[in-house]
Amino acid sequence: MEEIFSPNHPGNLQDYEKAYREFNWASLEVYFDWSKGGIYNIAAEAVDRHGRGSRKDQVALHSVQANGDVKSLTFGELYRRSNQFADGLVKLGVRRSDRVFVYLDRTTELFISLIGIVKIGAMAGPLFSALGPEAVRDRILDGEPSAIVTSPYLYQRIAPILKDLPIVPLFIILGDKEGLEGTVSYSEVLASGSPDFEAVDMGPNDPYIIHYTSGSTGKPKGVLLPHKAMLQQLLGMKYVVDIRDGDVYWCTADPGWVTGTSVGIFGPWYLGNTIISYEGRFDARTWYSLIERFKVNVWFTAPTALRMLMKAGDDLVKEFDLSSLRHICSAGEPLNPHVVRWGVEVLDRRIHDNWWQTETGAPCISNYSCMDIRPGSMGKPVPGVVAAVVDENGMELPPGKEGFLALRPGWPSMMIGIWKNITKYREYFYVPGWYATGDQAYMDEDGYVWFLGRADDVIKTSGERLGPFEVESALIEHSAVAESAVVGKPDELRGEIVKAFIVLRPGHEPSDHLRKDITNFVRVRLAYYAYPREIEFVAELPKTRSGKIMRRVLKAKEGGHDVGDLSMLED
Ligand code: AMP
Repeated sequence: MEEIFSPNHPGNLQDYEKAYREFNWASLEVYFDWSKGGIYNIAAEAVDRHGRGSRKDQVALHSVQANGDVKSLTFGELYRRSNQFADGLVKLGVRRSDRVFVYLDRTTELFISLIGIVKIGAMAGPLFSALGPEAVRDRILDGEPSAIVTSPYLYQRIAPILKDLPIVPLFIILGDKEGLEGTVSYSEVLASGSPDFEAVDMGPNDPYIIHYTSGSTGKPKGVLLPHKAMLQQLLGMKYVVDIRDGDVYWCTADPGWVTGTSVGIFGPWYLGNTIISYEGRFDARTWYSLIERFKVNVWFTAPTALRMLMKAGDDLVKEFDLSSLRHICSAGEPLNPHVVRWGVEVLDRRIHDNWWQTETGAPCISNYSCMDIRPGSMGKPVPGVVAAVVDENGMELPPGKEGFLALRPGWPSMMIGIWKNITKYREYFYVPGWYATGDQAYMDEDGYVWFLGRADDVIKTSGERLGPFEVESALIEHSAVAESAVVGKPDELRGEIVKAFIVLRPGHEPSDHLRKDITNFVRVRLAYYAYPREIEFVAELPKTRSGKIMRRVLKAKEGGHDVGDLSMLED
Protein backbone atom coordinates (compact mmCIF):
# COMPACT_ATOMS: atom_id res chain seq x y z
CA MET A 1 0.00 0.00 0.00
CA GLU A 2 1.17 3.49 -0.76
CA GLU A 3 2.67 5.33 2.16
CA ILE A 4 0.68 8.39 3.22
CA PHE A 5 0.88 10.78 6.15
CA SER A 6 -2.51 12.25 6.90
CA PRO A 7 -3.14 15.77 8.23
CA ASN A 8 -2.69 16.09 11.98
CA HIS A 9 -3.71 19.68 12.64
CA PRO A 10 -6.31 21.95 11.11
CA GLY A 11 -4.56 24.60 9.03
CA ASN A 12 -5.44 27.90 7.38
CA LEU A 13 -6.41 26.06 4.22
CA GLN A 14 -9.32 23.73 4.89
CA ASP A 15 -10.15 22.45 1.42
CA TYR A 16 -7.38 22.60 -1.14
CA GLU A 17 -9.37 21.52 -4.20
CA LYS A 18 -12.08 24.09 -3.52
CA ALA A 19 -9.59 26.86 -2.89
CA TYR A 20 -7.75 26.00 -6.09
CA ARG A 21 -10.96 26.04 -8.13
CA GLU A 22 -12.32 29.27 -6.77
CA PHE A 23 -9.17 31.28 -6.25
CA ASN A 24 -8.39 34.66 -7.74
CA TRP A 25 -5.47 36.90 -6.90
CA ALA A 26 -7.62 40.00 -6.39
CA SER A 27 -9.07 38.37 -3.27
CA LEU A 28 -5.76 39.00 -1.49
CA GLU A 29 -5.62 42.72 -2.15
CA VAL A 30 -7.64 43.60 0.94
CA TYR A 31 -4.74 42.49 3.14
CA PHE A 32 -2.63 45.35 1.85
CA ASP A 33 -2.83 49.04 2.70
CA TRP A 34 -2.39 50.11 -0.91
CA SER A 35 -5.85 48.70 -1.62
CA LYS A 36 -7.17 51.32 0.82
CA GLY A 37 -5.32 54.23 -0.74
CA GLY A 38 -1.87 53.71 0.80
CA ILE A 39 1.29 53.81 -1.24
CA TYR A 40 2.46 50.76 -3.21
CA ASN A 41 5.71 49.52 -1.74
CA ILE A 42 6.56 46.08 -0.42
CA ALA A 43 8.62 47.54 2.47
CA ALA A 44 5.79 49.81 3.59
CA GLU A 45 3.43 46.83 3.70
CA ALA A 46 5.94 44.73 5.65
CA VAL A 47 7.01 47.33 8.18
CA ASP A 48 5.48 50.82 8.09
CA ARG A 49 1.86 50.01 8.73
CA HIS A 50 2.81 47.95 11.80
CA GLY A 51 5.44 50.47 12.92
CA ARG A 52 2.86 53.24 12.90
CA GLY A 53 -0.03 51.11 14.05
CA SER A 54 -1.11 48.84 16.84
CA ARG A 55 1.89 46.53 16.51
CA LYS A 56 4.49 49.21 17.04
CA ASP A 57 5.62 47.79 20.38
CA GLN A 58 5.59 44.19 19.26
CA VAL A 59 8.91 42.51 18.49
CA ALA A 60 9.48 42.18 14.75
CA LEU A 61 12.89 40.53 15.00
CA HIS A 62 14.90 38.60 17.55
CA SER A 63 18.37 38.57 16.09
CA VAL A 64 20.46 35.92 17.85
CA GLN A 65 24.19 36.51 17.59
CA ALA A 66 26.67 33.70 17.19
CA ASN A 67 27.54 33.96 20.91
CA GLY A 68 23.91 33.56 21.92
CA ASP A 69 23.24 37.23 22.76
CA VAL A 70 19.99 38.60 21.39
CA LYS A 71 19.18 41.98 19.89
CA SER A 72 15.51 42.59 19.38
CA LEU A 73 13.71 45.24 17.35
CA THR A 74 10.07 46.22 17.65
CA PHE A 75 8.12 47.12 14.53
CA GLY A 76 8.22 50.74 15.74
CA GLU A 77 12.02 50.71 16.00
CA LEU A 78 12.39 48.97 12.67
CA TYR A 79 10.07 51.49 11.06
CA ARG A 80 11.97 54.52 12.32
CA ARG A 81 15.46 53.15 11.70
CA SER A 82 14.71 51.95 8.20
CA ASN A 83 13.25 55.40 7.49
CA GLN A 84 16.43 57.03 8.75
CA PHE A 85 18.55 54.70 6.65
CA ALA A 86 16.38 55.30 3.57
CA ASP A 87 16.59 59.06 3.98
CA GLY A 88 20.34 58.84 4.64
CA LEU A 89 20.77 56.94 1.37
CA VAL A 90 18.84 59.59 -0.54
CA LYS A 91 21.07 62.28 1.00
CA LEU A 92 24.10 60.34 -0.27
CA GLY A 93 22.67 60.54 -3.77
CA VAL A 94 21.27 57.01 -4.06
CA ARG A 95 18.25 57.04 -6.36
CA ARG A 96 15.18 55.02 -7.24
CA SER A 97 16.13 52.04 -9.47
CA ASP A 98 19.75 52.03 -8.25
CA ARG A 99 21.10 48.75 -6.96
CA VAL A 100 22.34 48.73 -3.36
CA PHE A 101 24.03 45.58 -2.10
CA VAL A 102 23.99 44.43 1.49
CA TYR A 103 26.95 42.24 2.36
CA LEU A 104 26.54 41.66 6.08
CA ASP A 105 26.26 38.88 8.61
CA ARG A 106 22.77 38.28 9.93
CA THR A 107 22.57 41.24 12.29
CA THR A 108 19.69 43.66 12.87
CA GLU A 109 21.33 46.16 10.51
CA LEU A 110 21.05 43.70 7.64
CA PHE A 111 17.28 43.79 8.02
CA ILE A 112 17.12 47.55 8.56
CA SER A 113 19.25 48.16 5.45
CA LEU A 114 17.20 45.90 3.18
CA ILE A 115 13.95 47.56 4.21
CA GLY A 116 15.46 51.06 3.91
CA ILE A 117 16.77 50.39 0.38
CA VAL A 118 13.42 49.08 -0.83
CA LYS A 119 11.67 52.12 0.68
CA ILE A 120 13.47 54.54 -1.62
CA GLY A 121 12.50 52.50 -4.69
CA ALA A 122 15.98 51.10 -5.18
CA MET A 123 16.72 47.40 -5.69
CA ALA A 124 18.19 45.64 -2.69
CA GLY A 125 20.89 43.12 -3.53
CA PRO A 126 21.44 40.90 -0.48
CA LEU A 127 24.73 38.99 -0.65
CA PHE A 128 25.38 36.03 1.64
CA SER A 129 28.28 37.01 3.92
CA ALA A 130 30.08 33.71 3.23
CA LEU A 131 30.67 34.76 -0.39
CA GLY A 132 34.32 35.18 -1.27
CA PRO A 133 35.98 38.05 -3.16
CA GLU A 134 35.55 36.49 -6.62
CA ALA A 135 31.84 35.90 -6.14
CA VAL A 136 31.37 39.46 -4.88
CA ARG A 137 33.35 40.87 -7.79
CA ASP A 138 31.14 39.02 -10.32
CA ARG A 139 28.08 40.54 -8.70
CA ILE A 140 29.49 44.06 -8.52
CA LEU A 141 30.52 43.93 -12.18
CA ASP A 142 27.09 42.66 -13.16
CA GLY A 143 24.85 44.66 -10.84
CA GLU A 144 26.85 47.92 -10.81
CA PRO A 145 25.54 48.90 -7.37
CA SER A 146 25.82 52.54 -6.37
CA ALA A 147 26.47 51.54 -2.75
CA ILE A 148 27.33 48.48 -0.66
CA VAL A 149 26.56 48.14 3.03
CA THR A 150 29.16 45.96 4.72
CA SER A 151 31.31 45.50 7.83
CA PRO A 152 35.04 46.17 8.28
CA TYR A 153 36.05 42.51 8.15
CA LEU A 154 34.00 41.81 5.02
CA TYR A 155 35.35 44.97 3.41
CA GLN A 156 38.90 43.77 4.11
CA ARG A 157 38.04 40.40 2.63
CA ILE A 158 37.07 41.89 -0.74
CA ALA A 159 39.55 44.80 -0.72
CA PRO A 160 41.94 43.01 -3.15
CA ILE A 161 39.34 42.94 -5.93
CA LEU A 162 38.30 46.58 -5.58
CA LYS A 163 41.31 48.09 -7.31
CA ASP A 164 40.43 46.37 -10.59
CA LEU A 165 36.82 47.55 -10.70
CA PRO A 166 35.95 50.13 -13.38
CA ILE A 167 33.72 51.96 -10.87
CA VAL A 168 34.05 51.44 -7.14
CA PRO A 169 30.70 51.68 -5.34
CA LEU A 170 30.30 53.78 -2.22
CA PHE A 171 30.94 51.61 0.83
CA ILE A 172 28.80 52.11 3.92
CA ILE A 173 30.64 50.52 6.82
CA LEU A 174 28.90 49.10 9.87
CA GLY A 175 31.41 49.42 12.69
CA ASP A 176 34.82 51.03 12.97
CA LYS A 177 35.80 52.47 9.57
CA GLU A 178 39.19 53.69 10.75
CA GLY A 179 41.68 53.34 7.90
CA LEU A 180 39.05 52.40 5.29
CA GLU A 181 39.47 55.29 2.95
CA GLY A 182 36.65 56.69 0.87
CA THR A 183 33.97 54.92 2.90
CA VAL A 184 31.15 56.35 4.99
CA SER A 185 29.91 55.06 8.30
CA TYR A 186 26.58 53.31 8.70
CA SER A 187 25.81 55.15 11.93
CA GLU A 188 26.41 58.52 10.26
CA VAL A 189 24.12 57.60 7.38
CA LEU A 190 21.49 56.61 9.91
CA ALA A 191 21.99 59.79 11.94
CA SER A 192 21.64 61.99 8.85
CA GLY A 193 18.19 60.59 7.98
CA SER A 194 14.73 61.47 9.22
CA PRO A 195 12.69 58.86 11.13
CA ASP A 196 9.62 60.23 9.35
CA PHE A 197 10.75 59.46 5.80
CA GLU A 198 7.86 58.39 3.56
CA ALA A 199 8.40 55.30 1.45
CA VAL A 200 8.30 55.89 -2.31
CA ASP A 201 5.17 54.89 -4.24
CA MET A 202 6.11 52.19 -6.74
CA GLY A 203 4.39 50.35 -9.58
CA PRO A 204 3.42 46.68 -9.25
CA ASN A 205 5.99 45.70 -11.88
CA ASP A 206 8.90 47.72 -10.50
CA PRO A 207 11.67 45.56 -9.07
CA TYR A 208 12.43 45.70 -5.35
CA ILE A 209 15.17 43.11 -5.20
CA ILE A 210 17.94 41.61 -7.27
CA HIS A 211 18.67 38.06 -6.13
CA TYR A 212 21.65 36.33 -7.60
CA THR A 213 20.66 32.68 -7.95
CA SER A 214 22.60 30.06 -6.11
CA GLY A 215 23.85 28.84 -9.46
CA SER A 216 23.66 25.08 -8.93
CA THR A 217 24.05 24.75 -12.70
CA GLY A 218 25.98 27.77 -13.93
CA LYS A 219 27.12 31.36 -13.54
CA PRO A 220 24.97 33.38 -11.13
CA LYS A 221 22.37 35.63 -12.70
CA GLY A 222 20.59 38.64 -11.21
CA VAL A 223 16.91 37.77 -10.93
CA LEU A 224 14.61 40.79 -10.55
CA LEU A 225 11.43 40.40 -8.52
CA PRO A 226 8.60 42.96 -8.60
CA HIS A 227 6.73 44.73 -5.80
CA LYS A 228 3.55 42.86 -6.72
CA ALA A 229 5.27 39.64 -5.57
CA MET A 230 3.79 40.58 -2.19
CA LEU A 231 0.50 38.96 -3.24
CA GLN A 232 1.98 35.53 -3.71
CA GLN A 233 4.34 35.82 -0.77
CA LEU A 234 1.34 36.51 1.43
CA LEU A 235 -0.51 33.55 -0.04
CA GLY A 236 2.57 31.39 0.60
CA MET A 237 2.63 32.45 4.24
CA LYS A 238 -1.02 31.62 4.74
CA TYR A 239 -1.33 28.35 2.84
CA VAL A 240 2.18 26.92 2.56
CA VAL A 241 3.83 28.17 5.73
CA ASP A 242 0.48 28.05 7.53
CA ILE A 243 1.30 30.96 9.80
CA ARG A 244 -1.21 32.45 12.22
CA ASP A 245 -1.50 35.69 14.10
CA GLY A 246 0.86 35.69 17.07
CA ASP A 247 3.09 32.90 15.76
CA VAL A 248 6.83 33.08 16.30
CA TYR A 249 8.50 32.09 13.07
CA TRP A 250 11.98 30.95 12.15
CA CYS A 251 13.10 30.66 8.56
CA THR A 252 16.65 29.35 8.58
CA ALA A 253 17.54 30.57 5.07
CA ASP A 254 19.98 33.45 4.74
CA PRO A 255 18.51 36.63 3.22
CA GLY A 256 21.08 36.17 0.44
CA TRP A 257 18.70 33.57 -1.01
CA VAL A 258 15.13 34.08 -2.15
CA THR A 259 13.70 31.90 0.63
CA GLY A 260 15.42 34.11 3.18
CA THR A 261 13.60 37.23 1.93
CA SER A 262 10.29 36.14 0.34
CA VAL A 263 9.18 33.88 3.18
CA GLY A 264 11.99 34.81 5.57
CA ILE A 265 11.41 38.57 5.95
CA PHE A 266 8.67 40.13 3.83
CA GLY A 267 6.10 37.32 4.03
CA PRO A 268 5.93 37.04 7.83
CA TRP A 269 6.10 40.82 8.29
CA TYR A 270 3.10 41.55 6.04
CA LEU A 271 1.18 39.62 8.64
CA GLY A 272 2.94 41.22 11.61
CA ASN A 273 4.67 38.07 12.90
CA THR A 274 7.79 37.98 15.07
CA ILE A 275 10.74 36.37 13.32
CA ILE A 276 13.95 34.82 14.60
CA SER A 277 17.28 35.06 12.87
CA TYR A 278 20.44 33.27 13.89
CA GLU A 279 23.83 34.63 12.94
CA GLY A 280 25.87 31.51 13.63
CA ARG A 281 26.55 28.47 11.51
CA PHE A 282 24.62 25.23 11.61
CA ASP A 283 24.85 23.27 14.82
CA ALA A 284 22.20 20.70 15.70
CA ARG A 285 22.17 21.43 19.44
CA THR A 286 21.97 25.20 18.93
CA TRP A 287 19.19 24.85 16.40
CA TYR A 288 17.00 22.74 18.65
CA SER A 289 17.75 25.06 21.55
CA LEU A 290 16.57 28.09 19.55
CA ILE A 291 13.21 26.46 18.89
CA GLU A 292 12.87 25.76 22.59
CA ARG A 293 14.13 29.15 23.76
CA PHE A 294 11.93 31.28 21.50
CA LYS A 295 8.99 28.87 21.45
CA VAL A 296 9.03 28.80 17.69
CA ASN A 297 5.64 27.85 16.27
CA VAL A 298 6.46 27.65 12.59
CA TRP A 299 9.78 26.58 11.19
CA PHE A 300 10.96 26.84 7.58
CA THR A 301 14.16 25.00 6.71
CA ALA A 302 15.85 22.91 4.02
CA PRO A 303 16.60 19.24 3.31
CA THR A 304 20.35 19.55 3.89
CA ALA A 305 19.75 20.96 7.36
CA LEU A 306 17.20 18.27 8.14
CA ARG A 307 19.61 15.55 7.02
CA MET A 308 22.26 17.07 9.25
CA LEU A 309 19.86 17.03 12.19
CA MET A 310 19.16 13.37 11.46
CA LYS A 311 22.88 12.70 11.38
CA ALA A 312 23.24 14.29 14.83
CA GLY A 313 21.15 11.44 16.23
CA ASP A 314 17.69 10.94 17.61
CA ASP A 315 18.68 11.14 21.27
CA LEU A 316 19.61 14.79 20.94
CA VAL A 317 16.04 15.76 20.02
CA LYS A 318 14.77 14.36 23.31
CA GLU A 319 16.83 16.83 25.32
CA PHE A 320 14.67 19.72 24.09
CA ASP A 321 11.12 20.84 24.53
CA LEU A 322 9.88 21.35 20.99
CA SER A 323 6.21 21.35 21.94
CA SER A 324 5.69 24.89 20.60
CA LEU A 325 6.31 23.70 17.02
CA ARG A 326 3.14 23.40 15.01
CA HIS A 327 4.19 23.48 11.37
CA ILE A 328 7.43 22.61 9.55
CA CYS A 329 8.30 23.44 5.94
CA SER A 330 11.21 22.47 3.73
CA ALA A 331 12.23 23.86 0.35
CA GLY A 332 15.18 24.38 -1.93
CA GLU A 333 16.09 20.79 -2.69
CA PRO A 334 14.28 17.50 -2.98
CA LEU A 335 13.10 16.18 0.38
CA ASN A 336 13.83 12.47 0.62
CA PRO A 337 10.95 10.27 1.85
CA HIS A 338 13.26 9.02 4.59
CA VAL A 339 13.48 12.54 6.01
CA VAL A 340 9.69 12.93 5.95
CA ARG A 341 9.41 9.64 7.84
CA TRP A 342 12.01 10.79 10.36
CA GLY A 343 9.98 13.96 10.91
CA VAL A 344 6.90 11.95 11.77
CA GLU A 345 8.73 9.39 13.89
CA VAL A 346 11.24 11.54 15.74
CA LEU A 347 9.88 15.10 15.68
CA ASP A 348 6.30 13.89 15.71
CA ARG A 349 5.53 16.43 12.96
CA ARG A 350 4.94 16.25 9.25
CA ILE A 351 7.48 18.14 7.17
CA HIS A 352 5.80 20.04 4.35
CA ASP A 353 7.94 20.04 1.23
CA ASN A 354 7.41 22.91 -1.19
CA TRP A 355 8.98 23.74 -4.52
CA TRP A 356 10.05 27.05 -6.01
CA GLN A 357 12.94 28.90 -7.55
CA THR A 358 14.59 32.28 -7.24
CA GLU A 359 12.82 33.11 -10.50
CA THR A 360 9.37 32.18 -9.17
CA GLY A 361 9.74 34.55 -6.20
CA ALA A 362 7.45 32.54 -3.91
CA PRO A 363 6.29 28.93 -3.39
CA CYS A 364 4.51 27.46 -6.43
CA ILE A 365 4.00 23.80 -5.53
CA SER A 366 3.47 22.60 -2.00
CA ASN A 367 2.15 20.17 0.54
CA TYR A 368 -0.58 21.78 2.67
CA SER A 369 -1.61 21.09 6.22
CA CYS A 370 -5.03 19.87 5.04
CA MET A 371 -3.64 17.42 2.51
CA ASP A 372 -2.23 13.89 2.69
CA ILE A 373 1.55 13.87 2.27
CA ARG A 374 2.96 11.31 -0.12
CA PRO A 375 6.61 11.21 0.95
CA GLY A 376 8.85 12.18 -1.96
CA SER A 377 6.22 14.32 -3.67
CA MET A 378 6.44 18.11 -3.70
CA GLY A 379 2.66 18.33 -3.47
CA LYS A 380 0.27 20.31 -5.67
CA PRO A 381 0.35 23.78 -7.26
CA VAL A 382 -0.59 26.66 -4.97
CA PRO A 383 -3.97 28.25 -5.72
CA GLY A 384 -3.50 30.73 -8.57
CA VAL A 385 -0.58 28.86 -10.15
CA VAL A 386 -0.95 26.48 -13.09
CA ALA A 387 1.77 23.83 -13.17
CA ALA A 388 2.10 21.02 -15.68
CA VAL A 389 4.48 18.40 -16.98
CA VAL A 390 4.98 19.02 -20.69
CA ASP A 391 7.03 17.86 -23.66
CA GLU A 392 9.29 20.17 -25.67
CA ASN A 393 6.29 21.42 -27.68
CA GLY A 394 4.37 22.45 -24.61
CA MET A 395 1.91 19.54 -24.82
CA GLU A 396 0.78 18.35 -21.41
CA LEU A 397 1.80 14.78 -20.69
CA PRO A 398 -0.48 12.16 -19.11
CA PRO A 399 -0.10 11.12 -15.44
CA GLY A 400 3.03 9.12 -14.74
CA LYS A 401 4.85 10.36 -17.82
CA GLU A 402 8.13 12.15 -17.18
CA GLY A 403 8.78 15.52 -18.78
CA PHE A 404 9.59 19.18 -18.20
CA LEU A 405 8.04 20.90 -15.23
CA ALA A 406 6.44 24.08 -16.55
CA LEU A 407 4.32 26.92 -15.18
CA ARG A 408 1.79 29.10 -16.97
CA PRO A 409 3.36 32.59 -16.95
CA GLY A 410 1.65 35.38 -15.04
CA TRP A 411 1.79 34.41 -11.36
CA PRO A 412 2.39 37.62 -9.34
CA SER A 413 5.84 36.84 -7.95
CA MET A 414 7.29 35.78 -11.30
CA MET A 415 10.61 37.47 -12.06
CA ILE A 416 10.31 40.47 -14.34
CA GLY A 417 13.75 40.01 -15.84
CA ILE A 418 17.34 38.94 -15.51
CA TRP A 419 19.48 42.01 -14.94
CA LYS A 420 21.21 43.08 -18.17
CA ASN A 421 20.47 39.74 -19.83
CA ILE A 422 17.32 39.66 -21.93
CA THR A 423 18.59 36.62 -23.86
CA LYS A 424 18.80 34.56 -20.70
CA TYR A 425 15.35 35.75 -19.67
CA ARG A 426 13.83 34.69 -22.99
CA GLU A 427 15.33 31.21 -22.67
CA TYR A 428 12.86 30.44 -19.87
CA PHE A 429 10.00 30.75 -22.37
CA TYR A 430 11.25 28.51 -25.17
CA VAL A 431 8.43 25.99 -24.64
CA PRO A 432 5.41 27.61 -26.34
CA GLY A 433 2.92 28.96 -23.80
CA TRP A 434 4.96 28.02 -20.75
CA TYR A 435 7.68 29.11 -18.38
CA ALA A 436 10.17 26.22 -18.36
CA THR A 437 11.57 25.59 -14.90
CA GLY A 438 14.53 23.47 -16.03
CA ASP A 439 13.37 20.66 -13.73
CA GLN A 440 12.13 17.23 -14.74
CA ALA A 441 9.09 15.78 -13.02
CA TYR A 442 5.93 13.75 -13.39
CA MET A 443 2.44 14.14 -12.03
CA ASP A 444 0.51 11.21 -10.58
CA GLU A 445 -3.18 10.43 -11.17
CA ASP A 446 -4.21 12.70 -8.31
CA GLY A 447 -2.19 15.72 -9.38
CA TYR A 448 0.75 15.32 -6.97
CA VAL A 449 4.02 16.47 -8.56
CA TRP A 450 7.11 14.25 -8.22
CA PHE A 451 10.55 15.73 -8.76
CA LEU A 452 13.12 13.79 -10.80
CA GLY A 453 16.04 16.20 -11.03
CA ARG A 454 17.35 19.24 -12.82
CA ALA A 455 17.08 18.54 -16.54
CA ASP A 456 20.90 18.67 -16.72
CA ASP A 457 21.24 16.09 -13.93
CA VAL A 458 19.09 13.41 -15.54
CA ILE A 459 21.04 10.20 -16.16
CA LYS A 460 20.63 8.22 -19.35
CA THR A 461 21.60 4.63 -18.65
CA SER A 462 20.92 1.52 -20.76
CA GLY A 463 18.44 3.54 -22.80
CA GLU A 464 16.47 4.60 -19.72
CA ARG A 465 16.15 8.06 -18.20
CA LEU A 466 16.70 8.26 -14.51
CA GLY A 467 16.47 11.13 -12.00
CA PRO A 468 19.22 11.18 -9.37
CA PHE A 469 16.78 11.98 -6.57
CA GLU A 470 15.19 8.53 -6.59
CA VAL A 471 18.54 6.77 -6.21
CA GLU A 472 19.78 9.21 -3.57
CA SER A 473 16.61 8.71 -1.55
CA ALA A 474 17.05 4.93 -1.63
CA LEU A 475 20.69 5.23 -0.60
CA ILE A 476 20.04 7.35 2.48
CA GLU A 477 17.64 4.73 3.79
CA HIS A 478 20.69 2.56 4.47
CA SER A 479 21.69 2.98 8.11
CA ALA A 480 25.32 3.83 7.28
CA VAL A 481 24.53 6.57 4.75
CA ALA A 482 24.21 10.20 5.84
CA GLU A 483 24.16 11.89 2.46
CA SER A 484 24.56 10.94 -1.15
CA ALA A 485 24.83 12.46 -4.60
CA VAL A 486 24.24 10.47 -7.75
CA VAL A 487 25.47 11.33 -11.23
CA GLY A 488 25.81 9.70 -14.65
CA LYS A 489 29.35 8.60 -15.49
CA PRO A 490 30.14 8.13 -19.19
CA ASP A 491 30.26 4.44 -20.13
CA GLU A 492 30.84 2.88 -23.54
CA LEU A 493 28.38 0.09 -23.08
CA ARG A 494 25.51 1.79 -21.29
CA GLY A 495 25.88 5.42 -22.33
CA GLU A 496 26.12 6.35 -18.68
CA ILE A 497 26.32 4.32 -15.52
CA VAL A 498 24.95 5.41 -12.18
CA LYS A 499 27.70 6.54 -9.84
CA ALA A 500 27.03 7.40 -6.20
CA PHE A 501 29.10 9.57 -3.89
CA ILE A 502 28.38 8.77 -0.29
CA VAL A 503 29.06 10.47 3.03
CA LEU A 504 28.87 7.98 5.88
CA ARG A 505 27.19 8.53 9.23
CA PRO A 506 29.47 8.82 12.25
CA GLY A 507 30.74 5.41 13.40
CA HIS A 508 30.97 3.85 9.91
CA GLU A 509 34.16 3.30 7.96
CA PRO A 510 34.48 2.89 4.17
CA SER A 511 35.13 -0.71 3.11
CA ASP A 512 34.43 -3.04 0.21
CA HIS A 513 32.10 -4.96 2.43
CA LEU A 514 30.03 -1.84 3.14
CA ARG A 515 30.05 -0.93 -0.55
CA LYS A 516 28.58 -4.32 -1.40
CA ASP A 517 26.09 -4.10 1.41
CA ILE A 518 24.82 -0.70 0.23
CA THR A 519 24.63 -1.91 -3.37
CA ASN A 520 22.57 -4.93 -2.38
CA PHE A 521 20.40 -2.80 -0.15
CA VAL A 522 19.33 -0.45 -2.96
CA ARG A 523 19.33 -3.01 -5.78
CA VAL A 524 16.15 -4.60 -4.53
CA ARG A 525 14.47 -1.25 -4.04
CA LEU A 526 15.09 0.29 -7.44
CA ALA A 527 14.53 -0.45 -11.12
CA TYR A 528 17.05 -2.94 -12.54
CA TYR A 529 19.07 -0.23 -14.30
CA ALA A 530 18.98 2.28 -11.44
CA TYR A 531 21.31 0.89 -8.79
CA PRO A 532 24.77 2.50 -8.59
CA ARG A 533 27.40 0.42 -10.34
CA GLU A 534 30.05 2.54 -8.69
CA ILE A 535 30.17 3.89 -5.17
CA GLU A 536 32.77 6.30 -3.91
CA PHE A 537 33.00 7.23 -0.24
CA VAL A 538 33.75 10.90 0.34
CA ALA A 539 34.14 13.09 3.43
CA GLU A 540 31.72 15.68 2.06
CA LEU A 541 29.75 16.60 -1.03
CA PRO A 542 30.33 19.74 -3.08
CA LYS A 543 27.55 22.16 -2.19
CA THR A 544 26.55 25.67 -3.11
CA ARG A 545 26.69 28.20 -0.36
CA SER A 546 22.95 27.85 0.01
CA GLY A 547 23.40 24.14 0.72
CA LYS A 548 22.43 22.55 -2.59
CA ILE A 549 24.41 19.57 -3.80
CA MET A 550 26.34 20.55 -6.95
CA ARG A 551 26.05 17.39 -9.03
CA ARG A 552 27.50 19.33 -11.96
CA VAL A 553 30.90 19.38 -10.23
CA LEU A 554 30.91 15.63 -9.59
CA LYS A 555 29.68 14.92 -13.08
CA ALA A 556 32.32 17.07 -14.72
CA LYS A 557 35.03 15.29 -12.75
CA GLU A 558 33.72 11.87 -13.79
CA GLY A 559 33.46 12.89 -17.43
CA GLY A 560 36.81 14.68 -17.41
CA HIS A 561 35.14 18.00 -18.36
CA ASP A 562 35.81 21.47 -17.14
CA VAL A 563 33.87 22.02 -13.90
CA GLY A 564 32.90 25.55 -14.98
CA ASP A 565 32.23 28.46 -12.67
CA LEU A 566 32.83 27.57 -9.03
CA SER A 567 32.25 30.92 -7.40
CA MET A 568 29.17 29.55 -5.67
CA LEU A 569 30.87 26.49 -4.26
CA GLU A 570 31.09 26.37 -0.50
CA ASP A 571 34.60 26.57 0.94
P1 AMP B 1 17.29 28.25 -6.68
O1 AMP B 1 16.65 29.20 -7.60
O2 AMP B 1 18.76 28.34 -6.68
O3 AMP B 1 16.69 28.28 -5.33
O4 AMP B 1 17.03 26.77 -7.22
C1 AMP B 1 15.78 26.32 -7.62
C2 AMP B 1 15.88 24.84 -7.87
O5 AMP B 1 16.03 24.14 -6.65
C3 AMP B 1 14.66 24.24 -8.51
O6 AMP B 1 14.64 24.45 -9.90
C4 AMP B 1 14.83 22.78 -8.14
O7 AMP B 1 15.75 22.13 -8.98
C5 AMP B 1 15.39 22.87 -6.74
N1 AMP B 1 14.30 22.81 -5.76
C6 AMP B 1 13.76 23.80 -5.04
N2 AMP B 1 12.81 23.34 -4.20
C7 AMP B 1 12.72 22.02 -4.41
C8 AMP B 1 11.91 20.97 -3.86
N3 AMP B 1 11.02 21.19 -2.90
N4 AMP B 1 12.10 19.72 -4.37
C9 AMP B 1 13.01 19.48 -5.33
N5 AMP B 1 13.80 20.41 -5.85
C10 AMP B 1 13.67 21.68 -5.41
